[in-house]
Amino acid sequence: MSAIWVDGLFKSYGDLEVLKGLDLEVNKGEFYALMGRNGSGKTTLTSIISCTSPPTKGSVKVQGYDVVGKADEVKRLIGYIPQENFSCSKLTGKENLVYFARLFGFSKKEARGLATELLERVGLAGDADRRVLVYSGGMRKRLEVATALLPGIEVLLLDEPTTGLDPSARKEFLGMLRDVNEEGTTIFLVTHIGEDAEVASRVGFIEGGKIVLEGEPERLRDGSRLRNVIEVETPFKGVSVASVLRPFSDEGRLQETEEGYMLYCFEPEESLPRIVRALDGIGCQAKRVETRAPSLEDVFFKATSKPLRS
Ligand code: ADP
Repeated sequence: MSAIWVDGLFKSYGDLEVLKGLDLEVNKGEFYALMGRNGSGKTTLTSIISCTSPPTKGSVKVQGYDVVGKADEVKRLIGYIPQENFSCSKLTGKENLVYFARLFGFSKKEARGLATELLERVGLAGDADRRVLVYSGGMRKRLEVATALLPGIEVLLLDEPTTGLDPSARKEFLGMLRDVNEEGTTIFLVTHIGEDAEVASRVGFIEGGKIVLEGEPERLRDGSRLRNVIEVETPFKGVSVASVLRPFSDEGRLQETEEGYMLYCFEPEESLPRIVRALDGIGCQAKRVETRAPSLEDVFFKATSKPLRS
């Protein structure tokens, strides 16, 4: 049985149609990452799966239970970690977990035992009695994940959980999620950051209200036929620079970045010196021209012609 099953889902807010016949199946025990640009409907989809917003049309089931007809069953199975923090900063980590366990109907004694166990699981045992006020962003997020690991919860939904975390906290957090998944919890993570999706066993791209491509990260990369990405740092940007670079790119795909441009290229070794010369020819001396391996964000751009992060 699928952990999450979405069939022909439509969702509109007034005249705005956000989801347009979206289909999705996440298997039990899977770590699925949904990648999409801001405003593409990721939060809308997670709020429907977690029964906080009704579908306009279509069917959504969690472990066989319909989110409309069997919402109580779904809510018992799902742990939803929204983007905004929800733990109480005045309480300690342990007090927060005891509070959530009590809400879920556990006795005081059971709640205390569970809190200790869960703090250990998310690597916060040493900080159990400190107020959340003094936790770092990464510690607070891990604590919130712990609230969703209470017995009975089998599917974890996370909405952009790494927002605001520095690279090392992000890495640590994603590693913890992978451990949680390996212990048996199904994970559905939505993100607009390619790095987050790299840890998933399967990744889906949402664009135009539907899943437009999905697969294992490596297969997506292979399937994209992207071999190399060239990053060009230029002293200035503009039509003339772009028109010099475009012929070097695979299928004319050129993306403007903060520092210059990025292009996808089949023969980087040959192109690199030619790019430098061509830019010199229009009086634009490149500050840096480098190749790197393609990331999932590159694959997303190639598949949708839209940058994941604008
Ligand atoms: P994402 O999570 O991918 O950034 P959202 O699901 O939050 O996207 O939003 C998708 C679109 O729906 C956006 O244009 C957003 O403004 C709109 N939207 C989201 N929630 C509401 C709402 N409650 N009422 C009206 N429009 C909404």
